[in-house]
Amino acid sequence: MPHLIAVLPGDGIGPEVAAEARRVLEATGLDLTFEEAAVGGAAYDAAGHPLPPATLALAQRADAILFGAVGDARYDKLERALRPEQAILGLRKELGLFANLRPAKLFKGLEGASALRPEVAAAIDLVIVRELTGDVYFGLKSRGTSAEGLREGRDLMRYDEAEVARIARVGFETARTRQSRLCSVDKANVLETSQLWRDVVIEVAADYPDVALTHMYVDNAAMQLVRDPGQFDVIVTGNLFGDILSDQASMCAGSIGMLPSAALGATGKGLYEPIHGSAPDIAGQGKANPCAAILSAAMLLRHSLDEGEAAGRIEAAVAAAIAGGARTGDLGGSLSTRQMADCILAGL
Ligand code: ATP
Ligand code: MG
Repeated sequence: MPHLIAVLPGDGIGPEVAAEARRVLEATGLDLTFEEAAVGGAAYDAAGHPLPPATLALAQRADAILFGAVGDARYDKLERALRPEQAILGLRKELGLFANLRPAKLFKGLEGASALRPEVAAAIDLVIVRELTGDVYFGLKSRGTSAEGLREGRDLMRYDEAEVARIARVGFETARTRQSRLCSVDKANVLETSQLWRDVVIEVAADYPDVALTHMYVDNAAMQLVRDPGQFDVIVTGNLFGDILSDQASMCAGSIGMLPSAALGATGKGLYEPIHGSAPDIAGQGKANPCAAILSAAMLLRHSLDEGEAAGRIEAAVAAAIAGGARTGDLGGSLSTRQMADCILAGL
């Protein structure tokens, strides 16, 4: 039985980069079938909703989802539920995708693209494992008036032990596939949620005696990420801290056009997307860097289809193309999206 890949191209440069990622997957020679469906603004235009039932049904049927990007200023005036970004939130929720994996690695030859000094940047090779469905984003929210009559806003930060344990396990398992070093990031000196987080991570660690566990406060982690990012192998953290630290790590690692991500749940199914958005400023011009989408396709093979060998071949082909001087505009070159993908395909 071939594996079914749902391709959800979306808006802006999403379709341009997703098409190249699909070509690369097709070139692996694996037994894959592809079905495409509209998502985001494109789906709103076609069907009146950013995540139409047919798109959700395809995502539920598929073994894995290759996602492009969604969003455009044209939809900013719509009510919240109809905005393109709701599609990705809806997919995460419906599919139970609670773990976000974001590798940040500097490819050889891109040292100059990092926000850090080249010799510091060269050492970056880490994965941030961010919890995706809890924390302050999903706790009780309200607006009101304080006892002094001042306007007040509240967002409840909350985690339960099961939520912490399952993301901690993803952190430990990820560390096992790498250098077996896990740094848990929290703010346990101030927050009750973080004290629970730390207790549970230490309990889960009993099942992973082979992984070296350390703890770091989030403020220190932010500092260490720019001071000496080479010290990190895998970082596991909550939704809010992970949101901030993963954007920070991506700028340390060079262009936004190079970095993939995976959203995983309890089953093998996952959603794979570049960390960049729909980039309306360059959409339709064939300028977008397809590497982030292609590396997301590699993560899809590794995490959802258990095809680590083919994933490694794709990653090596991207590294070889970059080392050989292939560059799109964001990397200071002039190759088109298609030409960049051709260089990678040539190395496969
Ligand atoms: P979102 O809110 O969806 O994250 P955003 O507004 O934060 O979107 P992006 O769409 O990621 O931002 O674009 C940020 C900048 O990076 C833009 O100038 C865009 O052109 C550039 N950019 C993003 N992705 C790529 C890519 N694959 N190749 C080249 N440039 C890119
Ligand atoms: Mg953004």
